[in-house]
Amino acid sequence: MTVEVIRKNCIGCGACVQTCPFDALELVDGIATVDPDKCTDCGECVAVCPTMALSLEGKKAPQETVKKAVEKIKEFKPENPAVNAYFGVWVLIEQNYGEIADVSWELLGAGRQLADELGVDLAGVLLGYNIKDKVNLVYEYGADKVFLVDNPVLKDYRTEPYSETLSMLIKKYKPEIVLMAATTQGRDLAGHVATNVETGLTADCTQLKIEPETRLLLQTRPAFGGNVMATIVCRNHRPQMASVRPRVMPMPKREEGRRGTLVEETIDLKEEDIATKVLDFVAQGGSAVYLDRADIIVAGGRGLGTKENFQLLFDLAKVLGGTVGASRAAVEAGWIDAAHQVGQTGVTVRPKIYIAVGISGAIQHLVGMQTSDVIVAINKDPEAPIFKIADFGIVGDFQKILPLLTETFRQKLGS
Ligand SMILES: Cc1cc2nc3c(=O)[nH]c(=O)nc-3n(C[C@H](O)[C@H](O)[C@H](O)COP(=O)(O)OP(=O)(O)OC[C@H]3O[C@@H](n4cnc5c(N)ncnc54)[C@H](O)[C@@H]3O)c2cc1C
Repeated sequence: MTVEVIRKNCIGCGACVQTCPFDALELVDGIATVDPDKCTDCGECVAVCPTMALSLEGKKAPQETVKKAVEKIKEFKPENPAVNAYFGVWVLIEQNYGEIADVSWELLGAGRQLADELGVDLAGVLLGYNIKDKVNLVYEYGADKVFLVDNPVLKDYRTEPYSETLSMLIKKYKPEIVLMAATTQGRDLAGHVATNVETGLTADCTQLKIEPETRLLLQTRPAFGGNVMATIVCRNHRPQMASVRPRVMPMPKREEGRRGTLVEETIDLKEEDIATKVLDFVAQGGSAVYLDRADIIVAGGRGLGTKENFQLLFDLAKVLGGTVGASRAAVEAGWIDAAHQVGQTGVTVRPKIYIAVGISGAIQHLVGMQTSDVIVAINKDPEAPIFKIADFGIVGDFQKILPLLTETFRQKLGS
């Protein structure tokens, strides 16, 4: 089995040749050509081909070729011995005007496990202004060490000073792993820092593990529209950088009184050196949606049929003290704002209760909510895939079911 080359589409750009991890492709007379003995059907070339000249359609990698690929990863010895000079796991503690984002604690929980497996320290990196009072919290959520840079230029989040500061710390202290939140701020900063320190970055990971033989960080994330899970390794560069969305990792227990080592650093940056100026900070008004922090979410999909029907969801959410979420189909129909979207291209949520109404359960929706504690599905189609992951399912028309639920909870809860 090999990748098929659709000759009429090939423009001879060579992207596949450079990408193939098994040297299975070369350009012959300007056309991509596959060596069947080397090709493992891993699909990397198909993903990078700009003209869809490569296809794996109808082909599945046989077990032995998958095994061969895994063996190849395991045999790996770093070409760059400098990677061995890097030790320790770091988590960037994200804060906004002194308020720490919960995802930072979740990352410390994940970082703690990685550091224990590697037998190294876990450090939290705290950047900002007048934030020294937060240091103890970072220890209490699992860090052995805190790197603190407290400087007026770090008062407002801006890419340049934050990136310069974090990059300076990485170059000086050489951590082997750096974890950051896949939030608006984290997404902006992570790519900038990875470029500065010349390493790779795996965004939006859903699982992080150490491979004991190689000490490599196995960074798993959904790929190809959520249809496969890709595990990515950063072999020859350090640190290994990964970002994780809020609510993907569980919240660790806070251990009050736990303490560690403080490393205070300074940075030689002046306000006049920074091009971006923050003129004012205006907090978002009452319509702000904090889906990722909600304990109860009532989410609606295309099955609701109209914008007006979303009112039934808002009524139930109000009685339960919850928040309204939505599938992408409902957002694209213009029935609700994109800030409510749950899923691969929306928000990842982990509430105590997730009520999915008129949502079929496409994989791109499930990846954003399947770790909810209790999932309730309401759908008129008993075969809808959402029922496969639901703890409780109600087969029926939402028009009848939602008013009944709202009234029953109103009476029981007195809300
Ligand atoms: C790259 C990519 C990224 C994506 N990202 C996301 C994402 O982040 N989030 C997301 O949600 N989707 C995402 N999608 C889209 C996803 O593939 C699905 O198309 C989408 O989730 C479907 O939304 P839905 O379940 O609301 O609609 P449908 O799949 O149309 O399901 C509607 C459901 O409503 C039920 N229904 C109809 N009438 C009633 C009724 N009266 N009472 C009860 N039930 C009823 C039907 O039985 C059906 O199961 C993405 C797609 C791609 C390709």
